[in-house]
Amino acid sequence: MIQGFYMQSNNRFTIKYYDEIIKKAKSNDYVFVTVHEYFDLGCPTTGYFILRHDLDKHPQTLQKQLDVEISNGVRSTIYARVTANDYNVLSYPVLKMLRSAEDDGFEIGLHTNFVEYATINSLDPMKVLSMENELLSSFFDVRGLAPHRDLNYAYNSLPFIKRNWNQIKTIGFDYEAYDDQIFSSCVYVNEGFNPHLCWRNNAPEDVIETGVSIYMMTHNHWWYDENPFEEWR
Ligand SMILES: [Zn+2]
Repeated sequence: MIQGFYMQSNNRFTIKYYDEIIKKAKSNDYVFVTVHEYFDLGCPTTGYFILRHDLDKHPQTLQKQLDVEISNGVRSTIYARVTANDYNVLSYPVLKMLRSAEDDGFEIGLHTNFVEYATINSLDPMKVLSMENELLSSFFDVRGLAPHRDLNYAYNSLPFIKRNWNQIKTIGFDYEAYDDQIFSSCVYVNEGFNPHLCWRNNAPEDVIETGVSIYMMTHNHWWYDENPFEEWR
């Protein structure tokens, strides 16, 4: 039936699927921890599940994933941007959402492309990073940072972070989210494009069966119930 064709959703990355991943991990005895908790534990290679959100854009869609986590009694780590063009972390609803999440046991960290911001505006990258950290730390217990880069890969802060880590630590960070230790201890699960949205390497439901620690990074703006425009319903 042609009508049935139009009714079908082609979205795999639903909020229901997100809930199923967490439920499957819980029933396989995974322990959910935030990124800084995982580092504090010494990066165990089996039995741990880290949920990481990079808040790139459309912050109003993140709450759906947070609600799923809360209903399952687990907590994640949210990296928020300070110098983003796409949202203002100090706007009333975003600040409120993130403060409420931190009060609830979620970890808030810095998501940043300070090298891009410094390059485009002819600024010192270290000064930009310090400013971002100072601002976010005024509201949150910031322990770590995760570099952001757009899909065009024009600017990438990660090589700068790796080269200057000893200096960056003195700004007040305990860890960076691409540390070699976390990547050698976990299977990293994240979205990719081939050519449309998919899992880049492994699907989490397959990795869960192996029992190895999982570091799953998702972008909230790609996860929804039925369609990407439902926030306007
Ligand atoms: Zn990002």
